[in-house]
Amino acid sequence: MMGTTLEAIKAKYEEAKAKNLNLDMQRGKPGNEQLDLALPMLDLVTSSDYKNEGDVDPRNYGGLDGTPAMKELFKEFLEVSSVGEVIIGGNSSLNLMHDTVARAMSHGVVGSEQPWNKLEKVKFLCPSPGYDRHFSVCEHFGIEMVLVDMTAEGPDCDQIEALVANDASIKGIWVVPKYGNPTGITCSDEVVKRLATMPVAAGDFRIFWDNAYAVHHLEEEEDQLANILDACKAAGNEDRVFIYGSTSKISFAGAGVAAMGGSKANMDWMRKHLSMATIGPDKLNQLRHLRFFKNMEGVKAHMKKHAEILKPKFDTVIEVLENELGGKGLAKWTKPKGGYFISLDTNEGCAKRVVELANEAGVKLTGAGATYPYKKDPKDCNIRLAPSCPSVDEIRQAMEVVCLCVAIADAEKNA
Ligand code: PMP
Repeated sequence: MMGTTLEAIKAKYEEAKAKNLNLDMQRGKPGNEQLDLALPMLDLVTSSDYKNEGDVDPRNYGGLDGTPAMKELFKEFLEVSSVGEVIIGGNSSLNLMHDTVARAMSHGVVGSEQPWNKLEKVKFLCPSPGYDRHFSVCEHFGIEMVLVDMTAEGPDCDQIEALVANDASIKGIWVVPKYGNPTGITCSDEVVKRLATMPVAAGDFRIFWDNAYAVHHLEEEEDQLANILDACKAAGNEDRVFIYGSTSKISFAGAGVAAMGGSKANMDWMRKHLSMATIGPDKLNQLRHLRFFKNMEGVKAHMKKHAEILKPKFDTVIEVLENELGGKGLAKWTKPKGGYFISLDTNEGCAKRVVELANEAGVKLTGAGATYPYKKDPKDCNIRLAPSCPSVDEIRQAMEVVCLCVAIADAEKNA
């Protein structure tokens, strides 16, 4: 597109529109090829072979916080130091996060003087761009969201420290610490340490550490994330963090196994509440997963196969962006080493229009603003690109349209 006139770009856009494309870059779902990799799991628990190791019968009630073997696996996955620091949930980590917040609101957490919903105001810090469903949980419970910027090393700790030190109504912060959604950023050691050690006005402040992309590497060289629970313990703040993860984007999205981790006191608190809500989780699914993956090495080996499928898709997005928009001052984008997204920043005031133009040309993009609290991107510049589902060819076509839309929206803005 370099050197191309606006008229030529618009003509190309009209050409693309006439093709009646139907392309979708909005959803961070695994593609079919990735899901196929886990299919053999479905044959590993059968009517003649369903007995769990040890004495837990997966057909029957029991095991409120998971089977012993599954807890061992997730102890490693969540990088906590004992199985007492792990709870295996159902099929969704978002569900565990939502329920943690719900229980904090209705009953308070360990160290709360009263349930959070008895307080005049509850606020959460929301590093943004971030995961829209974290923000929906806050909205759902009437928790006021305070926007915090993202830096190349994770959430902006200067802003965070200044806020939490003086405002006791700030009870929590959302963090996707590795290959963040949508930035792909991994928190640096310093950010982990500062979050664990910072003085906080609210005695019952919690970090919601959503490590959804812990093993979702795209490159040989992986990002390293410091251990938040160890850092909290070292600082004498061991109850500060709730850690979450799941196999949703490892085995089957929506039919995986979710888990949470944290201090023994935090997990005992959660187990107490859990026992009011369920007699136990789906142990047959846990057994399926355990037989398929066996251990963390098995999980990591499986994720290498995912990376082989995903890497060319991510590379295609970056390649088209670089070819079409590189050096033009129209947009910036991330080059993540893992996770599910590429974050595209247009110039101020263009993102909504880009999404609109793309939609009109048959390319569905995540709504502009979705990555910010209350769906309001103050600069209207961020667009989340999700390349996991479409094929490489579809991604190429979709991204060519997106680049045209960026150029047109920018020109309109400056007209
Ligand atoms: N956290 C993040 C950051 C995610 O991107 C997603 C999936 N889109 C989830 C949680 C949802 O995970 P689960 O399926 O385990 O609820």
